Amino acid sequence: MKADPFVQLRLLDLQALDRALDQLAHRRRTLPELAEIDRLERLVQAGRDDVVRAETEASDLARETKKYEDEITQVRTRKARNDERLASGAITQAKQLEDLQHENASLERRQSDLEDRELEVMEKAEAVQEVLDRLLGGRAEHLAAVEQAGVGRDAAWAEIDAELARATAERATVAAELPADLLALYERIRAAEGGVGAGEITRGRCGGCRLDLMGNEKADIRAAAPDQVLRHEECGRIMVRTAESGL
Ligand SMILES: [Zn+2]
Repeated sequence: MKADPFVQLRLLDLQALDRALDQLAHRRRTLPELAEIDRLERLVQAGRDDVVRAETEASDLARETKKYEDEITQVRTRKARNDERLASGAITQAKQLEDLQHENASLERRQSDLEDRELEVMEKAEAVQEVLDRLLGGRAEHLAAVEQAGVGRDAAWAEIDAELARATAERATVAAELPADLLALYERIRAAEGGVGAGEITRGRCGGCRLDLMGNEKADIRAAAPDQVLRHEECGRIMVRTAESGL
């Protein structure tokens, strides 16, 4: 293949733009904010089960507390009624009087027992509420941090996208200057060889694979016409001669 030496130099501009575009795309994919958002979202996700568990436990304990409250109220009401009857003087039979006093003593023990148990449940509920508050506080912090990282990500993306748009437009201009066959060859090699289709020969070294050229290769290059499109036998990439080639 043949191409004007100036056109060959433009191929190096195209390669530089493609390299810049690849780097921008890589930067876009690997922003530190993306890893941070991922990490925080995992934490929120992992904490979700803990929150549900603590909420369930808190509502169970609240229900249990309510149950004790109701029982205590019943016992109190019953005892108040007995006290009323005792105070009224309506009960005159000794046996009946004694039974009521017995029942009251038993109701008092029952109330005291219920109050002890209620207190235990309330202490447990308080501890669970503390855990829940801490979990919800942590979650709120993580969600706020996700939002902040999202703002940073969007700002970085906006900047990268502006550079991508600029470089893409410039690439189109350069690509339009190149003959179709040379461009197609470059694209094919670039796709197969990790994004590098052409390189400048610098100080006797292939710019594509960075290998030093052998003596006979250099001799062949010196003997080649300036418009001959050269390819490195080792890596297959297009080699472009410049004043820095050191041949
Ligand atoms: Zn090479």
